[in-house]
Amino acid sequence: MAEIVEAPVGGEEATSAQTRLPFESADSLLVVRDLVVHFHTDFGVVKAVDGVSYSVNAGETLAIVGESGSGKSVNASAVLGLVPPPGKVHRGEIIFQGQDMLKLDDQRLREIRGNRIGMVFQDPLTSLNPVFSVGAQVSEAVQIHEGLARKDARERATELLSIVGIPRSRERFDDYPHQFSGGMRQRVMIAMAIAMKPALLIADEPTTALDVTVQAQILDLLGSLQQEFGMAMILITHDLGMVADQADTVAVMYAGSIVEYGTVDDIYYRPLMPYTLGLMASVARMDQARSGRLRPIRGQPPSLIFRPPGCPFHPRCDYAREVCWQEQPELLEYDQQHLAACHFAGNLPEPIRKDEP
Ligand code: SF4
Repeated sequence: MAEIVEAPVGGEEATSAQTRLPFESADSLLVVRDLVVHFHTDFGVVKAVDGVSYSVNAGETLAIVGESGSGKSVNASAVLGLVPPPGKVHRGEIIFQGQDMLKLDDQRLREIRGNRIGMVFQDPLTSLNPVFSVGAQVSEAVQIHEGLARKDARERATELLSIVGIPRSRERFDDYPHQFSGGMRQRVMIAMAIAMKPALLIADEPTTALDVTVQAQILDLLGSLQQEFGMAMILITHDLGMVADQADTVAVMYAGSIVEYGTVDDIYYRPLMPYTLGLMASVARMDQARSGRLRPIRGQPPSLIFRPPGCPFHPRCDYAREVCWQEQPELLEYDQQHLAACHFAGNLPEPIRKDEP
């Protein structure tokens, strides 16, 4: 088993990078600096998150986009103080409303998770308890966090179910999760997440398990609740197409690092590096007539134990040149608040592999 060498959290290394991040402002609700999360396994050290920095402003949405295994969900778990063992935060700062989350004890973290940060996960069926009615589960969340009496909690839970679009919420209060469709179960999870009107909602692949029509409804619901409650949101997804209407800023993750970061318009209309281009080519876009078929990115994401040398995307990149497997590109600002980690960002050479006809 690999030896654990831990750098101090919030120590000298973490605090040395105090330059202002892109999009960071006096209004920033969450600032994550140089976050490193490793999992020490019998096979080696999985570098799930490797020096990630970003900020989220009050009321805005940051989309974190990447294929599975890119580190986007582990990054969210770290913000919530929920990195599963054997994972460990090795370095970094997670400043939420002025407090470093990595320095808080478990009780304080639980309070913040319930009251100021809400969470919605991919699979509501595994998040809901099958032996309790949906109403009882929402009531319990309300009772724990608002300290309401049982009868008042039931009223509040019914109201929340109605807010998230459960029809006949009073009648359906005593139904069990299996009596709800996937979309309705996700609405129940959202009701619990917004019960305390959190300042930040983290939605981790909230629509992946749902069919396309329901996906759009859930995204619309999240957008309207965000407006109503003035929440900020971190929307984690593998689908770049999903974020176009929702996000203000987008961070593209690959192999544990952010490889492109900018406004949604920059990422969508002016992508700088080939991985983002690949993500764009692999999703349907409503704003463009598409004649050809969608093109998935060839190959597989790399192992997070044995990352390729140089640019970790080089084995899959159609534009890779010698420098790409020799030197790892830094995440640099190419345009105002538009960053990319690519030796040829914004100035790509001829592709070596052309599109198939
Ligand atoms: Fe491709 Fe090279 Fe840019 Fe990496 S640095 S994305 S391999 S062109």
